Amino acid sequence: MKLFANVVYTASAHDLAQLPPDVGAEIAFVGRSNAGKSSAINTLANHTRLAYVSKTPGRTQLINFFSLSEGKSLVDLPGYGYAKVPPAVKAHWEETLAGYVSGRESLRGLVLIMDARHPLKPGDERLLDWYAPTGKPVHCLLTKADKLSRAEQNKTLKLVQDKLKLARRNATAQLFSALKKTGVEDAEKRIAEMLG
Ligand code: GDP
Repeated sequence: MKLFANVVYTASAHDLAQLPPDVGAEIAFVGRSNAGKSSAINTLANHTRLAYVSKTPGRTQLINFFSLSEGKSLVDLPGYGYAKVPPAVKAHWEETLAGYVSGRESLRGLVLIMDARHPLKPGDERLLDWYAPTGKPVHCLLTKADKLSRAEQNKTLKLVQDKLKLARRNATAQLFSALKKTGVEDAEKRIAEMLG
């Protein structure tokens, strides 16, 4: 059965104290605001508009949990890098994100969503730095790939892979497009592997 066939919203957390019990296996989606995270989640979940749960007013700054199957969850982390956020709110997000990715035992891997035209921005690198000590894997989706020519897509993928390798990240990368539905099977396969 498809990994995302029975995905349902289960819970939200505003801070580390509100997280559901740290049991089972989960995969977290993360990325800069507007990178295309909600679109990627919805594409993987077959147009259920699931991630728009995370976009409803009041839920954008929350960690949103979705159940995939018994003991397996998808976690939608708040987007970062949005310029208009007040410093105190930003500090709270950073602390919560850093605490979650570095301390969550059931977290099996991160799916880092980056606009293929703007990969590995400082916010993305910071997140990779917080997560690196865990040694756990990251899979990068270079989304909105449809906005690049084939040659530019290949160049971007190679550049990102080279940078990840140079920085000794435990990370893989692929091209993705929610609009054209490209890269969906590869993403599903990698996510299933990470979930175990
Ligand atoms: P989020 O803030 O990271 O959740 O980003 P969204 O999923 O809301 O996407 C931000 C904007 O990028 C929206 O206008 C989407 O329609 C657009 N977008 C997302 N994915 C793609 C894609 O694969 N191709 C194109 N062309 N646009 C996309």
